[in-house]
Amino acid sequence: MSDCIFCKIVAGQLPCSKVYEDDELLVFHDIHPFARVHLLIIPKAHIVSLAECTPEHERLLSRIMLLAPRLAKEHGLDSGFKTLVNTGRGGGQEVFHLHVHVFGGGDPVTHI
Ligand code: 5GP
Ligand code: ZN
Repeated sequence: MSDCIFCKIVAGQLPCSKVYEDDELLVFHDIHPFARVHLLIIPKAHIVSLAECTPEHERLLSRIMLLAPRLAKEHGLDSGFKTLVNTGRGGGQEVFHLHVHVFGGGDPVTHI
């Protein structure tokens, strides 16, 4: 997707503060963090949102969710963390490339 910010990050056309990469996932720091640690886990493939996922994405979604606690631990979020997936305009999604927010640290995040 030529006009997708996250596809441009995947392609190396825009910079990011990368924390993890494998053949199908990329993780980087959110540019406007909600908390001391705020990561975005994205698939490298352009998937618009959770609403576009199908059973063929089962393994990919599972990999994302299993990566979240591992990276949270690696970033010192020992007392816990939040995960958030905004889906569609009504769900507050601003970047239309699937991503899972993982954040925490500092004052406890009690609501979002
Ligand atoms: P959404 O509201 O779509 O769930 O969240 C999109 C997130 O992407 C926001 O938290 C925003 O700060 C982050 N973001 C938007 N553009 C960029 C960017 O170019 N680089 C990084 N690292 N984060 C971005
Ligand atoms: Zn994209």
